[in-house]
Amino acid sequence: MSSVSVVNNNKPHVVCTPLPFQSHIKAMLKFAKLLHHKGFHITFVNTEFNHKRFLRSLGPNSLNGLPDFRYESISDGLPISSDTDDDGNTVQDIPLLLDSIRKNLLAPFRNLLRKLNDTASSSANNNIINNPPVTCMVSDGFVTSTITAAGELGIPVVLFFTIAAAGFMGSKQYSVLVEKGLAPLKDESCLTNGFLDKVIDWVPGMEGIRLRDLPSCFRTTDPDDIVFNFAREAMDSVDKASAVVVHTFDKLEPHVLDAISSMPPPVYAIGPLQLLLNHLPKDPLNLKPMGYSLWKEETECLQWLNSKAPNSVVYVNFGSLVVMAPQQLVEFGWGLANSKLPFLWVIRPDLIVGESAILPPEFEFETKERGLIASWCPQEQVLNHPSVGGFLTHSGWNSTIESLTAGVPMLCWPVFAEQHTNCYYTCNEWGSGLEIDNNVKRDEVEKLVRELMEGEKGKKMKIKAMEWKKLAEEATGPHGSSSINMDNLVNQMLLRKK
Ligand code: UDP
Repeated sequence: MSSVSVVNNNKPHVVCTPLPFQSHIKAMLKFAKLLHHKGFHITFVNTEFNHKRFLRSLGPNSLNGLPDFRYESISDGLPISSDTDDDGNTVQDIPLLLDSIRKNLLAPFRNLLRKLNDTASSSANNNIINNPPVTCMVSDGFVTSTITAAGELGIPVVLFFTIAAAGFMGSKQYSVLVEKGLAPLKDESCLTNGFLDKVIDWVPGMEGIRLRDLPSCFRTTDPDDIVFNFAREAMDSVDKASAVVVHTFDKLEPHVLDAISSMPPPVYAIGPLQLLLNHLPKDPLNLKPMGYSLWKEETECLQWLNSKAPNSVVYVNFGSLVVMAPQQLVEFGWGLANSKLPFLWVIRPDLIVGESAILPPEFEFETKERGLIASWCPQEQVLNHPSVGGFLTHSGWNSTIESLTAGVPMLCWPVFAEQHTNCYYTCNEWGSGLEIDNNVKRDEVEKLVRELMEGEKGKKMKIKAMEWKKLAEEATGPHGSSSINMDNLVNQMLLRKK
């Protein structure tokens, strides 16, 4: 008797390739899970470096996947020694990594595709069909070698941007800035002499925005700046893709989305992803909840939050990539301490450049009754905890949309890339945030934290945040715009022949 296991033979097969950063992987995993639910066979591609980190943080079996949700890993092109610290832990040099992705990813990615398609045909020959041929790709918008690979196979490629529509449109301006002679900067003085305050009037759907509100990779004097050229090249490649997804919803960014809709390729606003996932019935992936974190989550903070009054706690987290100087940490620390309010502060082990984050003993003494410090937390659970009343954030897009989704107002301290754009929209368009000056000072932190948690502006921001939460829920309901856009993306792009 021949053993024939016929599984998934007809499933369309999508290969998902995130940029190897925590926030990009997490959002792409959520998106992949939605596609899996729509009936796709998924191959999810991590770099070898992050694959190992996931196994460390989530456990040795965490990436076993399912027959139709497989994990693969490929090299990021960097020698292992350059990206591992003494504990065998994290830190990668971002420009070096991006440069390597740009130059070195295509070859191992092609090999992987070849392997997937070879095993598909050999298993088909043996009547053991568990790996259908690759039919489409969903790639991070900043991993553009996938466009070349998809072209070679003649299959559609959708660029998934883990950013807002405004961040996307703002990043599209990098080449325009160069054409207009505004980037790279003439000299360092442009950072401080008011040049960045110039209002720019040519970006469709973003009227009134200043140079400083655009994604900040152009703020360099070096024409060969790796990050700027990486981002610029990626944004200039967008129209070679079949479609673009931005992680947002129609009512949050109607003007920018309207402007983007007149540019190629088609753009689909799909988000907030977590709310779309919340609508899925329990599926096999839920038997063991999918982990998303490269760091181990410290869940004790949830019990600590249980002991606090509703809306009383300031949650502080600067995401996975921001680094700061020791003095900035100290200013934030004293600002929080002097506000006399309870706080949960996540300080990543690598938050401080080249050092471990040390706060003075007086700070600890002053705040031990009302402050909790953790090194990584389940952020979405924290934001949705009733005790959390405000979020001091770096305005990373995922943090921003998670905060709006939870109805939590923000204090914004943007550091790089489209964090500045997110901050501008949070504070000026969505009425849910206040900005902290880049040159952070404890008195300002104290004043703004109090305003956020107890002031009149804070109350108004809370009301606005709750309105956004409601609109996000509507967008992700069965007939909401994001659900419809997801269905359209699947039918119009991922299931079509190129
Ligand atoms: N995050 C988390 N726990 C933490 C800090 C961050 O789970 O302690 C998650 C957070 O929920 C978000 C992502 O990491 O999904 C951070 O993404 P964001 O775009 O805000 O910032 P980035 O890390 O890219 O700067």
